[in-house]
Amino acid sequence: MRPDLTDGFVYNEGVVRTNVDCTDCKKVFVAKINFDLNGNHQLICPFCGHEHWRVVKNGVVTGDRWGSQNGPNRPVPTERMWSDVSHDIQTTTASKIIRERWFAKDE
Ligand SMILES: [Zn+2]
Repeated sequence: MRPDLTDGFVYNEGVVRTNVDCTDCKKVFVAKINFDLNGNHQLICPFCGHEHWRVVKNGVVTGDRWGSQNGPNRPVPTERMWSDVSHDIQTTTASKIIRERWFAKDE
């Protein structure tokens, strides 16, 4: 199954998916959180294991950071995703090349 590349948030059976930029390895991963979840949570980058301490509001990961001394330490499920920028989809196909050569022949 391909990852959903729509930006922003995807609502699926009460789970909110937030794209999170890892400040350590510079990759993007997805945090999957129930929409009714609020508070301080621990997100672990699935690529490099870097811990992100973020405030969650209604299942959406905000940009707010918090210290580990300020609340419960509950990990949040995360998964890898493809970056739209680094994995540009190529549209070149054999049929396209053949078609272009066919048109060029008539010129
Ligand atoms: Zn990372």
